[in-house]
Amino acid sequence: MHAPDAAPDVVDSHVHLLPGRLGEKVRGIFEDLGGYDLAYPADHAAVCERLASEGVRTIWTLPYAHRPDVAVSLNEAAVATARSGLAVQVVAGATVHPQDTDPVSILRRAVEDSGARVLKLHCSVGDFGPLDVGLEAVWDYVEAVRLPVVVHAGRAVDGVSGHDDLAPLDELARRHPEARVIIAHCGHDHEADALRIVAAHPNVHADLTPVVNRLVQVPPAEARTWSRRLLFGTDAPNTELGAAACRAHVESLGLEPDALAAVLGGNARRLVSEVRS
Ligand SMILES: [Zn+2]
Repeated sequence: MHAPDAAPDVVDSHVHLLPGRLGEKVRGIFEDLGGYDLAYPADHAAVCERLASEGVRTIWTLPYAHRPDVAVSLNEAAVATARSGLAVQVVAGATVHPQDTDPVSILRRAVEDSGARVLKLHCSVGDFGPLDVGLEAVWDYVEAVRLPVVVHAGRAVDGVSGHDDLAPLDELARRHPEARVIIAHCGHDHEADALRIVAAHPNVHADLTPVVNRLVQVPPAEARTWSRRLLFGTDAPNTELGAAACRAHVESLGLEPDALAAVLGGNARRLVSEVRS
């Protein structure tokens, strides 16, 4: 019999352990803005120790290419991080930029040779849309191997998605129905639009990752309905809301225990286990 407080197997599906100078640069953006009380230190080992102490067992580390020609080294760094013996299990993410010379080859190498198990596309940072023609072969590959793809829609620098930013994801899911798209931050602050896209396409998911200090707003009834397609995430290390706060928010949605376990980790584990390569 399980103790009532048996620790669920929590997966944080939205973490950015960025390498060296890039990690420092992104951290510096938050520090320069000032006024943020970030929940985690910048050091990878320290971030993972803190996450482990908050009950997280596994993380997805998501690199993202802000311009062409950086994806290969970011992907190699993510794999090295995943193998570096941190306090949590690390699933390596990969990234591409649509203006890379051959994005699908870069992705294929990361998945098939290096073991990456998720793709991250950051539209605002990379200044592209999910329907960019340079990603067409990437989406075909993603469908073929069932690779989950976290997409941060939109072009606003503050990380918030506008209504028009989410519509291309609807079209994307129509063109590529087998793509396991995960709408980052549940499209904050257009969560209702994001959930409509989830409702319309059986392979579209959303993560419940806050935007720095703003929790994603999902009505409890919607969380129940879509509990098999919502994922837990923090955006560590550059977030004010740590795993404990994010988890308390998910727990406040009043989900049944099995649905809660799915959101906190089961859905993320299922997506990774379904990758064919
Ligand atoms: Zn993020």
